[in-house]
Amino acid sequence: MSTPVCPICESSEVLVHSDHYECLTCGHEWPKESLADEPAADRVVKDAYGHVLANGDVVAMIKDLKLKGSSQTLKIGTKSNAIRLGDGDHEISCKMDGLAIGLKACFVKKVNA
Ligand SMILES: [Zn+2]
Repeated sequence: MSTPVCPICESSEVLVHSDHYECLTCGHEWPKESLADEPAADRVVKDAYGHVLANGDVVAMIKDLKLKGSSQTLKIGTKSNAIRLGDGDHEISCKMDGLAIGLKACFVKKVNA
């Protein structure tokens, strides 16, 4: 965390409010910038049909998917255990057929456990 500095007079005598800053020198007020450090947990992951997925959901394959680096194929309809959402390319971490794998959300649909 860096100390906020007034963009008008460059004073560092700044009052921090819950959603904005206030300069004690010139009285200028400006909003807090929160875009840069938005937590990844707020990311919305949707399945192939646009349903929002959450940690603990169960998903099923909507198409056969050959696993990279193995001869195994996940068959359409294969269900996962409770999923965990993460960052990156493969948003879903889960187990299918006893294998710990990362999946892209576009290959699965949410099922009612
Ligand atoms: Zn100021």
